[in-house]
Amino acid sequence: MQIIDKIYIDGAFVTPHGDELFNLFNPATEQVIGQARLADAQDARDAIAAAKRAFPAFSRTGKRERIDMLRRMHEAVAAKEDDLYEAITEEYGAPVSRGRWMAQHASNVLLEAAKVLQDYAFTRRAGIAEVVMQPLGVAGLITPWNSNAGFICGKLATALAAGCTAVIKPSEMSAIQTRIVTEALHEAGLPPGLFNIVTGRGETVGAQISSHPDVAKLSFTGSTSVGKTILRAGAETLKRVTLELGGKSPVLVLDDANFDEVVPLAIQAGFMNSGQACIAGTRILVPQQRLAEFEARVQQEVARTQAGDPRDPRTTVGPMVSQKQWERVQRYIRIGIDSGARLIAGGEGRPDGIDAGWFVRPTVFSDVANEMAIAREEIFGPVLSIIAYRDTEDAVAIANDTNYGLQAYVFSADDQRARELARRIEAGRVLVNTLAHEPAAPFGGFKQSGIGREYGTFGLEAFLEPKAVLTVS
Ligand code: NAD
Repeated sequence: MQIIDKIYIDGAFVTPHGDELFNLFNPATEQVIGQARLADAQDARDAIAAAKRAFPAFSRTGKRERIDMLRRMHEAVAAKEDDLYEAITEEYGAPVSRGRWMAQHASNVLLEAAKVLQDYAFTRRAGIAEVVMQPLGVAGLITPWNSNAGFICGKLATALAAGCTAVIKPSEMSAIQTRIVTEALHEAGLPPGLFNIVTGRGETVGAQISSHPDVAKLSFTGSTSVGKTILRAGAETLKRVTLELGGKSPVLVLDDANFDEVVPLAIQAGFMNSGQACIAGTRILVPQQRLAEFEARVQQEVARTQAGDPRDPRTTVGPMVSQKQWERVQRYIRIGIDSGARLIAGGEGRPDGIDAGWFVRPTVFSDVANEMAIAREEIFGPVLSIIAYRDTEDAVAIANDTNYGLQAYVFSADDQRARELARRIEAGRVLVNTLAHEPAAPFGGFKQSGIGREYGTFGLEAFLEPKAVLTVS
């Protein structure tokens, strides 16, 4: 049992004013593995006050100093990679390869922010004006459970690179990962108050951060419904807001695609992070005339997909993070069946031979109409919909007929043709014949997938405000 009874304010580990104890689970066993003592609104106010005190001096630091800090933070988090991997496996249930990637990603994002900062010019000219990009102030950073350590480090790295100080509210369900990251960041020896980490509930700590007048900037990753609440809370004091929200990403399989190459990629895109990924490719658009061939290939691929023990290296789909998430996924599988979609793989209940843990069967529906709830709503589990299309125009129309617009995938034997279609898709990122990630490129959503962008120069500028200084001499 891990007891986490400290939060991090003003450079020190302190006992929270809040006294609620929150159980932490291993989702693969359903066992309680620890307890976190949650911060409350008073703790959030103390953290904001510390960040506010630290801001004036920190905002005047130069690039060199901030780059050095980011490098020290990178080294400190990288040194804890094995502990972080262990926590990600135990507390979140990520399969081995995903868990390793997540543990490395947490330190990598710090180095990437240092690189962006290195190349960034904070001043530029516009006619007679000198335009200075100035840090916004105290940033409130709120993270979800599906990549908690990575989001803490990524958002903090960008805020500090810009010269903002930060109050972080991580997911309360990821307190073990948060403890490891906080200890690492503490060892990097930054001045007190630059970052403060208060694990608590969204409705208390999160709400306090998103409405407090001394917070100038909010960067939130999570569900679309909470994103809207945060936008409303921030409106009163006109906070700058970046929202990275949900998705229902289309995977456009063009009629010339080689299914032996494309189906494994489509299944990987759909089941990534055990299906608990905002960028998962959950609507697979397939030409009507090749539907049967595609379905047969998908069935073979899903049969090879192992759902189960996250510590088994052959596993690619781990458990859902919580009982609530497991029940949500089960509910959507039932809705799919009831609405007339045809199951071609998986279905309700746990995978064969597993009787404990929040495991679901990797599931694929065909004969899905884009109007069905399983095609419109984010399920956040390994449940995919195959939607047949008549021709390319129909495919583009279906791809764009969604409230979301975070990511899309286009697969074709003809790169040029795929790139042309990519231009017509309403999504923040379109991956053409690849599942690669590019940390220098902007990331974020069209429509209800969010507001603003993270990563690279676009991400940095989301923590900055332009100021024009005009002189005539
Ligand atoms: P969530 O929205 O329930 O919670 C996210 C965070 O917000 C948590 O820390 C939570 O405590 C906090 N929160 C909850 N209510 C709040 C409130 N009223 N005020 C302030 N903060 C509040 O999301 P989740 O269940 O943790 O994560 C899953 C969701 O996140 C999915 O919808 C997924 O698509 C989305 N997500 C998006 C991205 C992206 O980059 N676009 C990445 C990962 C996850």
